[in-house]
Amino acid sequence: MIAPEHYEYLLFGTKTCGSCGTPLPANRDFFQPSTCAGGLTSNCRACRAKSSRESYERRRDKRRAQMREYNATRRVRA
Ligand SMILES: [Zn+2]
Repeated sequence: MIAPEHYEYLLFGTKTCGSCGTPLPANRDFFQPSTCAGGLTSNCRACRAKSSRESYERRRDKRRAQMREYNATRRVRA
């Protein structure tokens, strides 16, 4: 008897996330569809969500810093 959670691994094969290294069933529940080899992205959904949130926050911080700099420059010139 095979545990139900192993069916997906057998059915789709295992794909190891390129970011966290966790072996997951290679299907669209765990990896986003992609045009690259295998038809799925190399990082799992959890890692992609995490990295996109981090890059969003990085962008936001950078933008804040730029605004601070911009405002400081304006204050000096005014
Ligand atoms: Zn991952």
